[in-house]
Amino acid sequence: MKLAAPAPKATTRSALLRAGGSLLSGAGIPNAENEAIWILEFALGTSRLALRLEANRTVAASEQDRVMKLFARRAAREPLQYLLGSQEFCGLDFLVDRSVLIPRPETELLVEQVIQHNLRTRPLIIADIGTGSGCIAVALARALPTAVFYATDRSLAALRIAEHNATRHGVKDRVRFLVGDLLEPLRAHRLEGKVAAVVSNPPYIADRELLELQPEVRMFEPRVALAGGGDGLEFHRRLLSDAGEFLAPGGLLVFEVGQGQAGPLSEIAVAQGGYAQAGLVRDAAGLDRVVCFERKNSAKF
Ligand code: GLN
Repeated sequence: MKLAAPAPKATTRSALLRAGGSLLSGAGIPNAENEAIWILEFALGTSRLALRLEANRTVAASEQDRVMKLFARRAAREPLQYLLGSQEFCGLDFLVDRSVLIPRPETELLVEQVIQHNLRTRPLIIADIGTGSGCIAVALARALPTAVFYATDRSLAALRIAEHNATRHGVKDRVRFLVGDLLEPLRAHRLEGKVAAVVSNPPYIADRELLELQPEVRMFEPRVALAGGGDGLEFHRRLLSDAGEFLAPGGLLVFEVGQGQAGPLSEIAVAQGGYAQAGLVRDAAGLDRVVCFERKNSAKF
């Protein structure tokens, strides 16, 4: 005889919230109670206020199950942004999943730098190398309505997310997404000497630092978006040597860098010969975070 499954115990919203809060704080998540609320808001399609006002409302078994699965994923240190599929960047909401790096607030400084340079080349062509979620290209496209963008990534899964974000924010017609290695895909579009700015937040974590990253980053964000080789500057180096061919004379190369990398990167650029330093921006923690170079008019690449 088949035994009937026991009826699931009726659980209220507040009981579920308590269960989530203690699961997450037990997993060492600092902002556990708020995160539990955000997960509940998302999973039940409700608001913090409604959760409070209707705290004693019972939650259907299927919904309970969905909520508990999300709590469990967060307790296993999966970033909240992947659970909710969303991260804000430059005031815009970006779709994210595990195929893309979660956009970081310091990367907004890179976007600001490009805008502040007031690029006058026409047509205004900008290349975003390693676009990931597309956050840089999309935010710039919103701010520079006459610019056209070429955004590359070696991950097709990432490009799908980036395209979704471009569509969501109404700039899809001005951003071309191309799969391939760094600047290589620009060749087919004959962009040599035509690009006003090459911007990139390439992977820059040095190999030995990968293991020290917080669990959310180390276990869940794509390694190809993080690992920058022995000193973390492998991609910057390659971009410095490859971008010259695509940049218009006086064109800009704008990079994000990690802690302690701005100095060594500038030395590499000087040794390279084709660039002049064109700006250095510190982040909120006082660390050099965005480095700009200008392609010298006379440079040969
Ligand atoms: N350009 C994306 C960002 O800044 C992706 C960067 C990366 O994957 N390294 O978030």
